[in-house]
Amino acid sequence: MQRQILYRTDSLGAPKVGAARAALNAVNPEVEVIPIAKRLQGEDLLELVSGADVVLDCSDNFATRHALNRACVKHRKPLVSGAAIRFDAQVAVFDLRKTDAPCYACLYPEDGEIEEVQCSTMGVFAPLVGIIGTMQAAEALKLLAGVGTTLTGRLLMLDGRSMQCSEMRLTRQSQCSVCGTQSAGGSRAD
Ligand SMILES: [Zn+2]
Repeated sequence: MQRQILYRTDSLGAPKVGAARAALNAVNPEVEVIPIAKRLQGEDLLELVSGADVVLDCSDNFATRHALNRACVKHRKPLVSGAAIRFDAQVAVFDLRKTDAPCYACLYPEDGEIEEVQCSTMGVFAPLVGIIGTMQAAEALKLLAGVGTTLTGRLLMLDGRSMQCSEMRLTRQSQCSVCGTQSAGGSRAD
């Protein structure tokens, strides 16, 4: 649990959502936190995403990331994605309110041969998740406030060993199975 700044030793054994709410309300009791202690999928996930202004993906597996991405593409919600493993981390914004914005599957296709490497088995340099988490928070606030230039269309990669950032341009893939014009769902049609 050392990797997650929301939690303390006495959080061990408690449901994560409850411990997270308690920690956040200790910082600011006026923040309303609605914990949902279940795996969201299907219609439940779509409904929750449809009511959001911005969605942050802080998960550690591709199944969840792709499900969130699909929901955000369908409802055209901005998605702030972050991930960290070992000494490597990355952050990106997929502002799906824009018709020409790439989605997460444009970067990592759903049928891609990407090895699932989870930090629960591979470990992660603890401060990295805090760094990436606050970067995600910054991007989310910028999206909500409409200020600055977000990481839309850019993948920011941080090498924790050298503390160097590099950046990759992301473009929408017309053959993307989720947001592409060829997709059967046609969910991006205006
Ligand atoms: Zn896409």
